[in-house]
Amino acid sequence: MQNVAVVGAGLVGSLQAILLAKRGFKVDVYERRPDLRKAEILAGRSINLALSDRGWKALDKAGISDEIRKIAIPMFGRKMHAVDGTLTYQPYGKENQAIFSVSRGGLNQKLMNLADDYPEIGYYFNMRCEDIDFDSNTIRFTDTEKDQIVEKSYDAVFATDGAFSAVRNRMMKYPMFDYSQSYLSHGYKELVIPPNEDGSHKIDKNCLHIWPRGEFMMIALANLDGSFTVTLFFPMEGELSFASIDTPEKVKDFFEKTFPDSIPLMPTLLEDYFSNPTSTLVTVRCNPWNHGTQAVLMGDAAHAVVPFYGQGMNAGFEDCTVFDELLEQYGDDWNTIFSEYSRLRVPDGNAIADLALNNYIEMRDSTADPDFLLRKKIERK
Ligand code: FAD
Repeated sequence: MQNVAVVGAGLVGSLQAILLAKRGFKVDVYERRPDLRKAEILAGRSINLALSDRGWKALDKAGISDEIRKIAIPMFGRKMHAVDGTLTYQPYGKENQAIFSVSRGGLNQKLMNLADDYPEIGYYFNMRCEDIDFDSNTIRFTDTEKDQIVEKSYDAVFATDGAFSAVRNRMMKYPMFDYSQSYLSHGYKELVIPPNEDGSHKIDKNCLHIWPRGEFMMIALANLDGSFTVTLFFPMEGELSFASIDTPEKVKDFFEKTFPDSIPLMPTLLEDYFSNPTSTLVTVRCNPWNHGTQAVLMGDAAHAVVPFYGQGMNAGFEDCTVFDELLEQYGDDWNTIFSEYSRLRVPDGNAIADLALNNYIEMRDSTADPDFLLRKKIERK
């Protein structure tokens, strides 16, 4: 195997391309969107993510963690905002242990720039994967700029094309491929806390801020430019939901009653609430994650999870670690590498999906409950 393709130049695809290039493969990376380093980030899509040990381990393996540290803000604990404005702090670990806030777009750009240092890696943008023929391992793309079909064959294909993977769609047509997808009844909307005039952060940048409110919650993670990306996780439908809070008066009233200390922090709340999209959250599980030695699924293509355990990207990066370790262990025995990858990773993917669903209850509800904190303390002893 020499010539391989990575389909999807997101976080996982770009990291996987670097790890493969380090092992001497020639890697063509295809992305359906334009080059994100030249395009403007869509409003309301400024997601920032918590990067943790699982992710750092993969970045270490690729030899790029020092570069990523430059764009990461440590968060040493979570700070809970009660309705009456009381703040409670829970450290994430011992002294100096932290998870890190990184901008998804910023991290993606950085990974692409680092990948550019490898002559083995070529990026092809505006190339939407439509399908794959596993008999000849030929991928069919639409070149969306030229509006034409392009076909390319590879020794192996790494599908990192996200939760709605086109490569996985083809795998689903084969017998014995299990697949399930389920949407959460809650969706999310991004809001913003802009920086102070001098560019500093309005609240503590080294914490993950949470406004836990039982049936729903809001969180905020710091950005390098002094702002915070705020995410409201809220029911899609129902009495108190995105569907029902649908006028400026209702939004104002709801925030005043529910998140009063956030109002002075968010001067563009109403504008952001109505102009930013409401997005859905989906869990995807499947098995196996390989199709022979032709293709493997990685990242959200294999395991889209809800974001409450902060592990979607981290688990995707761990897919890259595990694949690299298997390459190290089994050399060119691709049968073993691909099947072992699937055997080892599917249970972990399912576990992360379960933990993420469970943690939603903890974050939105139990972080605010004093009895719960006491119980946790006793459990830890
Ligand atoms: P993606 O980032 O989805 O990238 C897929 C890429 O493939 C994209 O560039 C896409 O354009 C491209 N593509 C798609 N289809 C095609 C096609 N047909 N042809 C060619 N290219 C294609 N994770 C964490 O670890 N920590 C967090 O704190 C965290 N917080 C989150 C908060 C929110 C609100 C959300 C929604 C997610 C969060 N996640 C978090 C999850 C994380 O964003 C994802 O797990 C991660 O982005 C997955 O990376 P990926 O490369 O697998 O997929």
